[in-house]
Amino acid sequence: MKSLGLKIDLHVHTCYSSDAVTTLKEVITYCRRRGLDGVAITDHDTLAGVHRLQSNDLIVIPGIEISTLHGHLLALNVTTPIPPKLSINETIRKIHEAGGIAVAPHPTLFYKSAPSRQTSSYDAMEVINSAAVPFQLFTYLNKKLATYLNLPQTAGSDSHYAPEIGAAYTVVAADPDVNEVVGAIEKGATIPMGKSIPWRVRLEGEALSLKRRI
Ligand SMILES: [Zn+2]
Ligand SMILES: [Zn+2]
Repeated sequence: MKSLGLKIDLHVHTCYSSDAVTTLKEVITYCRRRGLDGVAITDHDTLAGVHRLQSNDLIVIPGIEISTLHGHLLALNVTTPIPPKLSINETIRKIHEAGGIAVAPHPTLFYKSAPSRQTSSYDAMEVINSAAVPFQLFTYLNKKLATYLNLPQTAGSDSHYAPEIGAAYTVVAADPDVNEVVGAIEKGATIPMGKSIPWRVRLEGEALSLKRRI
């Protein structure tokens, strides 16, 4: 039987991304604390973190945020690495070959390496990204673009610091299984939910990241 909806943060970085401070243990702790059913780990150009993450009760979607020649691109449900610095179309092809789906993250965020709009081959578009500033404006523009392109809509926190996890999440109408969830996203059985990361949390995260770097 289908559940009413699983709450999954589809864009989370861990300390395996050079710009993030979240440990794998904190990912589990904060997902539980925020009442999430699952999480997609999407470190920059590496699967090293998600390969080490183990949880008995969370749905863990293996993912990568790939630095393509034409902006960032999220690959969900991939367990083999996808090389960076390829064209957007070549990257999407490789994601599909690896059995994953390609989600365009922060599509209108010009200052965050938005993915190219020169392709119509995305499987879904992230319309809520909690790190976006100003949040309301970019959420509005992202939703307008996804609606225009007729793409399924997702949400994720783009968390780089554990307390940011779950600031946004996607409600997915699926059974609690990675393949079922990804299939439901592809079909558009999603509701994007969420808010902006509060400034206090943002500043704490920045301060911690700076401290770790020096
Ligand atoms: Zn990004
Ligand atoms: Zn990101």
